[in-house]
Amino acid sequence: MLEVRHLNVSYGQAQALFDVSFVVPVGKLVLIQGLNGAGKSTLLKSIMGLMPEAQGQINWWGESLTHLAPFERSQRGLGYVPEDRRLFAALTVKQNLEIASQVEMSRTPKVQTMQLADVLTLFPALAGMLDRPASQISGGEQQMLALGRTLMTQARMLLLDEPCEGIAPVLVEAIAASLQKLKGQGYTLLVAEQNQTLRGMADQVLQLVSGSMSQSD
Ligand code: ATP
Repeated sequence: MLEVRHLNVSYGQAQALFDVSFVVPVGKLVLIQGLNGAGKSTLLKSIMGLMPEAQGQINWWGESLTHLAPFERSQRGLGYVPEDRRLFAALTVKQNLEIASQVEMSRTPKVQTMQLADVLTLFPALAGMLDRPASQISGGEQQMLALGRTLMTQARMLLLDEPCEGIAPVLVEAIAASLQKLKGQGYTLLVAEQNQTLRGMADQVLQLVSGSMSQSD
């Protein structure tokens, strides 16, 4: 279970999150909804350790993550896919995926991670484009690639920022289906989105309004 308690985050003098508290049970999909500027990205970045000024507690499986660097949170099973996906544009699809597993190889103890074949089973569309540069695939395919790359780390919980934003409907369906499968495999998902795309498959929907959270259902 991920627990966020009394999270307050500011950019300089401007406070973006106000006393945000919630839990994400293991194996569930929790959706964070909110308008532009509500604080969704700030929340996901804070959980991943990318907002050093964040105040509050973040616990994962009972362990405090508060003082851990992003790579240490990744080693403990958090995986973050930012809104802009941060792919290596000049590298091929295959190289983007392999980079994640090479980082893993240096780690001990070794834990079970997704292999290339597992990612291609989840996203068959990527199989035919392994040698294409990541910059030359569509937005939806890039989203699949970013998700696949994160799955080849030790991630057991996925923090996804607008995974369906600006993507063709057919690929949105494929991404939604993949998230459902991942949930079935025991992954925990925290997904931020402005629209209602994934609402139907969420176990819980939380609303962020101007940096404050309320539970809507
Ligand atoms: P969007 O859907 O537009 O990405 P969001 O819900 O993810 O919005 P955030 O990006 O977390 O919202 O922004 C929350 C607040 O923090 C906004 O008021 C925004 O202007 C502010 N903010 C975000 N990033 C910065 C930054 N780097 N410097 C200063 N203020 C920022």
